[in-house]
Amino acid sequence: MNNKLSLRILLPTLASAVALSALISFSSAQNSPAGDGVVTTRSHIFTPVSDGIYHVTGTGTVNVMSHAMLIEGEHDLLVVDSHVSPNAGMALIEAIRNVSNKPVRYLINTHYHFDHAHGNQVFPQEVEIIGHTYTRQKLSGELGNVLEESTFISFTEGAPGQVASLQQQLAQETDAERRAELQGRLATAQAHLTSLGEIVPTPPNITIDESMSIYQAVNGGGREIRILHLGRGHTGGDVVVFLPEEKIVFTGDLMVPFIPYMGDAHVDEWPATLDRLKELDFETLLPGHGPIVQGKERINFLQAYLRDLWTNTDALKRQGLSAEQAAQQIDMTAHSGNYPQISGPGADVRAIRRIYQLL
Ligand SMILES: [Zn+2]
Repeated sequence: MNNKLSLRILLPTLASAVALSALISFSSAQNSPAGDGVVTTRSHIFTPVSDGIYHVTGTGTVNVMSHAMLIEGEHDLLVVDSHVSPNAGMALIEAIRNVSNKPVRYLINTHYHFDHAHGNQVFPQEVEIIGHTYTRQKLSGELGNVLEESTFISFTEGAPGQVASLQQQLAQETDAERRAELQGRLATAQAHLTSLGEIVPTPPNITIDESMSIYQAVNGGGREIRILHLGRGHTGGDVVVFLPEEKIVFTGDLMVPFIPYMGDAHVDEWPATLDRLKELDFETLLPGHGPIVQGKERINFLQAYLRDLWTNTDALKRQGLSAEQAAQQIDMTAHSGNYPQISGPGADVRAIRRIYQLL
């Protein structure tokens, strides 16, 4: 990219750090100084994991809430997951223009959850949206309004309070630097809150039940992009996007490197689905949240946690505890080596309520 070149040439002539930061914020995108092909825009970071394949993460200036993937072919682009809101989805579309000017042809939804699919509506009409049949049923409203479900509500009801809290902090802050930082965070939180009110759940128009492949034209051949439903897990209709040639898989939230949300998960079926994930011949796992994972060992950690969570919850239910009591008392500390966030007894009450429901 030209920006890197111009930065290099201009750097020695810059008189101050202020001028440097002004220059950086003026340019919309730049390659990272390491020269590793990472493209950083105001809202997004595109980390290349293979030729034309990027793990896409937010910088924090826009609340995107989940990661995406971009796959660039000879003529067009394929995007996996659309973020949390129309605002975040639009920021993704704009940021992609710093990587490629080719049109987006396909958008894949790994699952129906708000933080991965509520940017769908801002993609142009000609973009084909692909997802599992269950994802279509959820986002089309066939199974009820997703905006009225506890999954959406429990993750978004705090947004107005967050704006109010930042406004209050800003009103009390006198330090200029701290005020500028708070103003930035407030603008991000306000844009997120406004956009949550503009969501029109938009379902996939192409559905799959088990698997399908797209052969994307690339120089010298066709790149297979395999979309697979390996069984139920994080939701009733997760798909992963597997690139057999490049040995890369994007897992959405079916596999993340920490304890995932389980409010409407199929906790009992999830470990077997992860067995099928392990059968895929991949080396690099791109999760819907958290850092890139190399190898398959962390999948074992999640399987072990899910199995124990199920067994321990079942035992507490048999003792007559309510889901709320069980969520406080459950002992998952045997897994704290793999999940440092476990500091004592307890688990997410939404996970325990869900297991009670399934039991
Ligand atoms: Zn998610």
